[in-house]
Amino acid sequence: MSKLKDNIAKADSFLSKYSVLSHHIDGVSVTSKNTFDNHSPIDKRLLCKVSKGTAADIDKAALSSQRAFQTWSRVSGKNRRDILHSIADAIDKRSEEIALLESLDTGQPLKFMAKAATRGAENFRFFADKAPEAANGLSMPTEDHMNYSVRQPLGPIGVITPWNTPFMLSTWKIAPALAAGCTVVHKPAEFSPLTATILADIATDAGLPAGVWNLVHGLGEVAGRSLTEHPAIKAVAFVGESRTGSMIMRQVSDTLKRVHFELGGKNPIIVFDDADLDRAVDAAVLMIYSLNGERCTSSSRLLVQSTIYDQFIEKIAARVRAINVGHPLDPATEVGPLIHETHYDKVCGYFKIAESDGAQTVVGGAAHDGPGGGYYVKPTLFAKAHNDMRIAQEEIFGPVLTAIPFSDEQDALRIANATQYGLAGYVWTQNSGRGLRMANGLDAGMIWVNSENNRHLPAPFGGMKASGIGRDGGDWSFEFYMETKNVCLAYGTHTIPVLGKL
Ligand code: NAD
Repeated sequence: MSKLKDNIAKADSFLSKYSVLSHHIDGVSVTSKNTFDNHSPIDKRLLCKVSKGTAADIDKAALSSQRAFQTWSRVSGKNRRDILHSIADAIDKRSEEIALLESLDTGQPLKFMAKAATRGAENFRFFADKAPEAANGLSMPTEDHMNYSVRQPLGPIGVITPWNTPFMLSTWKIAPALAAGCTVVHKPAEFSPLTATILADIATDAGLPAGVWNLVHGLGEVAGRSLTEHPAIKAVAFVGESRTGSMIMRQVSDTLKRVHFELGGKNPIIVFDDADLDRAVDAAVLMIYSLNGERCTSSSRLLVQSTIYDQFIEKIAARVRAINVGHPLDPATEVGPLIHETHYDKVCGYFKIAESDGAQTVVGGAAHDGPGGGYYVKPTLFAKAHNDMRIAQEEIFGPVLTAIPFSDEQDALRIANATQYGLAGYVWTQNSGRGLRMANGLDAGMIWVNSENNRHLPAPFGGMKASGIGRDGGDWSFEFYMETKNVCLAYGTHTIPVLGKL
């Protein structure tokens, strides 16, 4: 308890610096006349006011990033590496502030947010070290010509991020863009604006030149939309809901921008009767109830082989009943309040939908009376579900698991793939051939066999179908943030077809 009080006091003291959040445009802090309120998901109190970015603010930021691109794109890879390392070091120095404010702003438990800064710093270090080789291409010699490819930075990038793990996700986009030599205009989610402000401050302090990284707060339909439509912006890196992705695709069409979308998911975790069931239980529970279930890669559909269905559901249910729901700043809390009233209403709506669709509520299925009176729900397990129920098809984005039985491999694949989404899939079996067959058959961008969502930064991250377009990670990030140019040089040995010569 004293640790919680201590954390609340520290978080409030950090928060006191941020009564009104400003934009960061062309190296200068700019506060809008119009603001919107940012409330705490824990106790609904006002956390801070936030500058409400307009099309004019986006215009200034986009033009600033266009000017800065002229110089930043020519800074050597080695120098970009050094600056990005300085940003990573500064993130580490402010890790406690980042963790506490991220937790306060989003309701995500400190247990998980304690690592937010470390993971953000790792993203910067990883892409910093790749910066000197970002321009590398291929050499493709032929008998008469040398073809070689080089990569060049694309230009100013619009980065639009969601509220679920805002700090980590912002670094995941901004670090590779800067490493590639691009400049950035970042529009963070309106529900979780705090740590984006810290990040822009850090970048300035670390010596990033003015205009290389602009931050404009604001609403999606105004600031976000203007960013996607601005002609100076050459690409949009977006993380958020699938239907927002569709809107953005329409918005960028006039200016023909490149897009990278990381969207929603309804990811299956498939447990066969030959699996190590104890490890499978650990992974299944972690992947849906951590981060309040507000996680794109959450294992929200639990597919269990009929032979072990009852036994496995019992094991899961026992764990779900014991999950510690509480104040997110309490280090012992495993599930905190949901981000916002509208999201809370959405998640609670599924409790009724499940009932009317005939699913069985094994655990939870109701709001939770948590400390502060915020947007808490009980960790929930639905069983006796089938795949065409709304709770099996729609992204609930809360601590809510839907369990469905299957008979064999074919049946598991049929159920797993019968969704509009295709982000991740998890397979539990001790039969390696079956693991490979399932990995081949699943329509998803990322498959984990006998593991939870373990990220390796050089590996590709992204989804199929309505879960996204494009891949992040390692060199895949540079493929998005850079243009590939082919240069073809003649050895002077080939015959040029001659026209018009008498
Ligand atoms: P959202 O789509 O509502 O908002 C995301 C961002 O888009 C916000 O900054 C918002 O202001 C902005 N936006 C909204 N309308 C816009 C418009 N018309 N033009 C431009 N920008 C606009 O998403 P959310 O509710 O903040 O986040 C949750 C969603 O994000 C979930 O669906 C989740 O699965 C997804 N997500 C996906 C991944 C992934 O890697 N695939 C990772 C994290 C979250």
